[in-house]
Amino acid sequence: MVYSFAPGRVPPEGIGEDVLGGKGANLAEMSRVGLPVPPGFTITTEVCRDYLAAGRRFPDGLKTQVENALAETAALLGKTFGAGPDPFLVSVRSGARVSMPGMMDTILNLGLNDDTVEALAGRTGDARFAYDCYRRFIQMYATVVIGVEDGVFEELLDAARDKAGVGRDNELDADALRALVDAYKAAIIGDMDEPFPQDVHAQLWGAIGAVFESWKNPRAVTFRALHAIPDDWGTAVTVQAMVFGNSGTNSATGVAFTRHPSTGEKRVFGEYLVNAQGEDVVAGIRTPDPLLPTGHHDGHAMSERMPEAFERLNALGERLEAHFGDMQDIEFTVDDGTLWLLQTRKGKRTADAAIRIAVELAGEGTISREDAILHVDPALLDMLLHPSVDPDAKRQVFARGLPASPGAAAGMVVFSSTAAEAAKADGKPVILVRPETSPDDIHGMVAAEGIVTTRGGMTSHAAVVARGMGKPCITAASMVRIDPARRTMRAGAITVREGDFLTLDGAAGEVLLGELPMVQRPLSGDFATLMEWADSIRRMRVRANADALNDAEVARGFGAEGIGLVRTENVFLEGDGLQVMRETIMAPDERSRRLVLDRLLPIHRDTFVALFEKMAGLPVSIRLLDPPLQEFLPNDDEELGRVAEEMGMAVDDLRRRADELHEINPMLGNRGARLAICYPEIAEMQTRAIIEAAIIAGERSGAPVVPEIVVPLVAYYAELRHLRERIDAIAADAKSRHDSDIRHLVGCIIELPRAAIRADLIAGAADFFSFGTNDLTQTTLGISRDDASHFLTRYLDEGIIERDPFINLDREGVGEIIRMAVDKGRAAHPGIVMAITGEHGGDPESIAFCEEIGLDYVSCSPYRVPVARLAAAQAAI
Ligand code: PEP
Ligand code: MG
Repeated sequence: MVYSFAPGRVPPEGIGEDVLGGKGANLAEMSRVGLPVPPGFTITTEVCRDYLAAGRRFPDGLKTQVENALAETAALLGKTFGAGPDPFLVSVRSGARVSMPGMMDTILNLGLNDDTVEALAGRTGDARFAYDCYRRFIQMYATVVIGVEDGVFEELLDAARDKAGVGRDNELDADALRALVDAYKAAIIGDMDEPFPQDVHAQLWGAIGAVFESWKNPRAVTFRALHAIPDDWGTAVTVQAMVFGNSGTNSATGVAFTRHPSTGEKRVFGEYLVNAQGEDVVAGIRTPDPLLPTGHHDGHAMSERMPEAFERLNALGERLEAHFGDMQDIEFTVDDGTLWLLQTRKGKRTADAAIRIAVELAGEGTISREDAILHVDPALLDMLLHPSVDPDAKRQVFARGLPASPGAAAGMVVFSSTAAEAAKADGKPVILVRPETSPDDIHGMVAAEGIVTTRGGMTSHAAVVARGMGKPCITAASMVRIDPARRTMRAGAITVREGDFLTLDGAAGEVLLGELPMVQRPLSGDFATLMEWADSIRRMRVRANADALNDAEVARGFGAEGIGLVRTENVFLEGDGLQVMRETIMAPDERSRRLVLDRLLPIHRDTFVALFEKMAGLPVSIRLLDPPLQEFLPNDDEELGRVAEEMGMAVDDLRRRADELHEINPMLGNRGARLAICYPEIAEMQTRAIIEAAIIAGERSGAPVVPEIVVPLVAYYAELRHLRERIDAIAADAKSRHDSDIRHLVGCIIELPRAAIRADLIAGAADFFSFGTNDLTQTTLGISRDDASHFLTRYLDEGIIERDPFINLDREGVGEIIRMAVDKGRAAHPGIVMAITGEHGGDPESIAFCEEIGLDYVSCSPYRVPVARLAAAQAAI
């Protein structure tokens, strides 16, 4: 239940994050490497699960194990828990399997009471310091464990500052702090009718229970839902010896990144505060100083003020990078000149930085190219492909702050997270402006396009969280004065009201007035390098779903190796296509329909020629018309009247036809293959257009084009066989008319469970399959893809499902059906090409599944192509 860590005394290898939590495992690992980590012990996540399941009861035997570990750790440092002359103080921290920054509780300086505080004062010769620790501990303990409102203590602290006539907390002297401690204790009794515990063991057990408890607090629950972290993991608790960053001017606390988290530059980057404790940096209450001088050398930088500790930090940083093989985010404390590392973890970074760091680490030989590929979260690439403010746009700067997270976004100003969420629900883009953010603001940050805080720094909550979310963020815009009552803010002479538009330039740290145009940034050389590496490693090919020439162009720019799906419904809308299509639908019989369709053929053919030419010999899969015809007809009276007039026909006739075509459940109605069977002339026209276009494009370029014709929504083998015969016949006719002998392929999309079940037979009539997982998810789950969000959100909230199956492929259900179809299809038709063309083709986890079952390619929206290339490489490693 309990594992100790200290140099030379560490848990057995193999006891990892699932047991010790990320923090505990990390401390064990750091101790193993021999880094200067304050010693301590970790209570496992299993104990947390047992504790919560048993109605907040600690398991038998835990007490003895904890007390033993505690006594041993104290002895190691020559200190005593709960007694002088050198009292042992500890921190009690949460630690889930994955980092959940700021979501759960932490208690520092535990072990102080009315006696030990005096002993600490005596030992350090600094009563001010001892009482400062004590008042911080009482405040934390009371808010976290006893449940007193934090505001109570803030008010008393304000009053103490006023009384002493000082502006900052660290200017309060020992007597003032002693009085403050008494006031705090009285406030706790007044508020909760319960005294602050003097028994240090009672303090410890109270804190351990509260940390376990904090696994269930609302912000932790929201965070888990957001990051798909299972609710049943539980948190570990780490109890660790305190070291003091606030024990005088030769002490400090800070955060260091081994490389720059925004640019990736190889140079220690971070902030520190002299004579302070860790939470002062994170909370953004005091403005920290940089580790290295930035521009002007004013002597405040750590490298200038504490050169020895800085050098040691720098050297340890390099050692950590070499050991963990990645950029590290280190929390450190200097206690009277001695450097301690409190924590190190993989540093959060922007997409730009992630790519540069991965490529450079591989270049330096610290990691392999495969590791470099694994280091970059494909989802981060999305951020790179996001736009930035058009450099030609006229900028009117409202305020400047720190460039905490890059990217650009425009939206309407709101001043609270609740307002952000409400506006987002109304479909409005918003910029959230706050003095600073806390974990309670997560929902507002999720809803916002970008975030501005007037306080904080590069490592404050808003900065870290926004970088993780890939949203632009500007912190420390200190010239901005927010007036929450009026819902306005002012900087200089300019006032901005709630609802006004602002644009953020995260990279420049500028808040701009109005809604500015955006452009796509050019991609860096490191991006190209990483993509090259990915391409050389991945097995699956990556195509794009593209309906228009413009999509095809974007897709090629991002490295698509073909088009996996052209949804031809849009081609029917080109030029006066809609009008002609309506005439087709209104025509009384097949013969007249064919006459009208003859007019659509050249439009189709021209579109396909352009597409083939744009793709320059890369494969292009074109799908026959899929949606039900009613989608082409007007659906309200006003529209009906207008269209009837345009077409020169009676409204009643049009309405009658619309009524005839109307289906109660069109997604399960006459669409896909069914449409091609009932209206063969449409499929024939499309086939002829595709074949003719391929002939023309091939002749122009001198390289033959092999068009791929896709039949949608197939259920029966006989359907596909029937349609294939017709398609092949029309193709043969078109080829002979043009005296051409090009090849063409015919395949189908598997979008119905029946087609998957009969995949062996169907494979006999198909040159290729693609899995249309949008429809296949819809038809397998019987959940309408257009209506799902109303109730699936509830399912997610209730924990009934962990992922939205329309975003992340439902491996166990839909995935198993696909696996079966792949196996059956391959057995019957070795070498048949198989792919995925639903939205899941751009989702990294779904792509990993596609690799697992051996699909030949994934096809996704053009902007996701780089994501898919990287994810496919990761899946192949
Ligand atoms: C699918 O159903 O997954 C698919 C690719 O087709 P569409 O999204 O056009 O229905
Ligand atoms: Mg479909």
